[in-house]
Amino acid sequence: MQYVTLNNGVKMPVLGFGVFQIPAEQTEQAVTDALAAGYRLLDTAAAYGNEEAVGHAIKSSGIPREALFVTTKLWVQDAPAQDNTRRAFDASLHKLGLDHVDLYLMHQPYGDVYGQWRAMEAVHREGLAKAIGVSNFYPDRLLDLILNNEITPAVNQIETHPFFQRATDHVLMREHGVQHEAWGGFAEGKNDLFANPVLSEIGEAHGKSVPQVVLRWLVQRGIVTIPKSVNPDRMAQNIDVFDFELSEHQMSRITDLDTGTTLFFDHHDPAMVDWLSKRRLTD
Ligand code: NAP
Repeated sequence: MQYVTLNNGVKMPVLGFGVFQIPAEQTEQAVTDALAAGYRLLDTAAAYGNEEAVGHAIKSSGIPREALFVTTKLWVQDAPAQDNTRRAFDASLHKLGLDHVDLYLMHQPYGDVYGQWRAMEAVHREGLAKAIGVSNFYPDRLLDLILNNEITPAVNQIETHPFFQRATDHVLMREHGVQHEAWGGFAEGKNDLFANPVLSEIGEAHGKSVPQVVLRWLVQRGIVTIPKSVNPDRMAQNIDVFDFELSEHQMSRITDLDTGTTLFFDHHDPAMVDWLSKRRLTD
């Protein structure tokens, strides 16, 4: 496994396992299979409703805590967010059955963002989250957060795949020491990604599959990636991307697939802001 070093010195695996949309009752088995396949970075969220199952799989794996990198996320909190955020963090930690997380992310750039961030800074200072970061922040919001707070987010987890490559975001993040992490690296198969002719041809040249080409492309861009699968064969395939290298020409052919547009939702869209902000979590 390769690692990246975050802006506070914490090491993070460059490839991990995401559990979005895995039903809680299937998650323990999926995470157990992923750990057996060699994944050490696990990405969950309060909003996924499966933190408890992730925690059970961690506990029964017997893998030393220090060998794992566990990320969870804070859902949108109303102002004043300080107390709510701390309660939400404690609830996540309790569900995971852990005494710290490696990375705590603000899931959406909505609600009392500044109150949330200051409470997250406090959690970090207490050593309960080794690193803190954000998710779904576009460059304008990210820069504003960086310029007006003490701690620069260690990570920004954003939609990133061959059809929405986020080159401008990537440059800004690099300039400010924020690690780019991809969600939806396969675009969840949208746009017929798994049958894309360019990706297939590149895969054939290396004896690798399309998903492996995509993950390799992300890793070579220095982007942390967290593919999701409930299928153990695919889990094994998705982590087997460290024994080949895409040429400059192959990288640039993939660059040409960029459409510059989200395949999921636009965080600037008022309808989306409304929908996500009203989606309150209940414990
Ligand atoms: P994804 O990883 O782009 O795609 C997952 C889909 O690809 C699943 O349908 C999976 O099916 C399929 N798949 C996986 N490996 C495959 C392979 N080798 N061959 C063919 N199909 C394969 O989608 P994602 O789950 O949305 O994103 C990954 C992670 O990012 C999430 O799990 C979550 O942790 C995180 N995320 C974060 C946010 C955020 O707002 N911060 C949003 C979305 C996701 P099977 O399971 O049937 O194999």
